[in-house]
Amino acid sequence: MIEQRLKALYELQSIDDQLDQLEELRGDLPLTVNDLTARIKEKQDQIDNMEKEKNNSIERMKSNEEEVEKLNENLKKFKAQLYKVRNNKEYDALTKEIDHGEETVDKLENENVALEELSEKLKIQIEELKPSVEELNEELKEKETELKKIIKTNEREEVKLREERDKVAAKVKRNDLNTYMRIRKAKGGKAVVAVERSACSGCHNVVPPQRQIEIRQSKRLYNCESCGRILVAADIANEVVS
Ligand SMILES: [Zn+2]
Repeated sequence: MIEQRLKALYELQSIDDQLDQLEELRGDLPLTVNDLTARIKEKQDQIDNMEKEKNNSIERMKSNEEEVEKLNENLKKFKAQLYKVRNNKEYDALTKEIDHGEETVDKLENENVALEELSEKLKIQIEELKPSVEELNEELKEKETELKKIIKTNEREEVKLREERDKVAAKVKRNDLNTYMRIRKAKGGKAVVAVERSACSGCHNVVPPQRQIEIRQSKRLYNCESCGRILVAADIANEVVS
């Protein structure tokens, strides 16, 4: 029966209205919490990356230092050997080795200067970022506590409403439920509205008299010609509310 279908839909709407009101009490807290969480993660990732880069620089510096130490020892040996060479060929080969070794030492030492600068720079940047993460964490904690408080205050009512909603939704035909959800989404909440004082109570446009009669007779589902919401006669709306 159409009337039963309309009643179930209107009932569903009235429960959803109450749930929407509870959700409204949370204001923009859920959004704020999400936003803060994302910002903290972004900054923390930045810090983690810089920390990684800094540690890599330090590791690299250490291995360069070890390399320099080895090279210097070799250079010492080569230089000692210079005094013992017997011909030009040997001399040339040794000086070539020495030149090459000294060049490498220079290169590694320069690299270490740059790495030292980089790791110092990163250290400062990390220290600068840390307080803002702490601040954001404090703010997040506050907002979460606020939100939890609100949720807790209305917990029982919400659980009760959700149980009721499940029961009513089970009575609604699948197709009607889909239509309802689609309009509800498009209209930001209200999908089923009553005809009040000859007008759609969703958009306040007048419903033509002939159509009002048809709606009262509940022959089929009628949508408002202006806003597309499902219209129910005032009688049905009153029955559901009472
Ligand atoms: Zn309308």
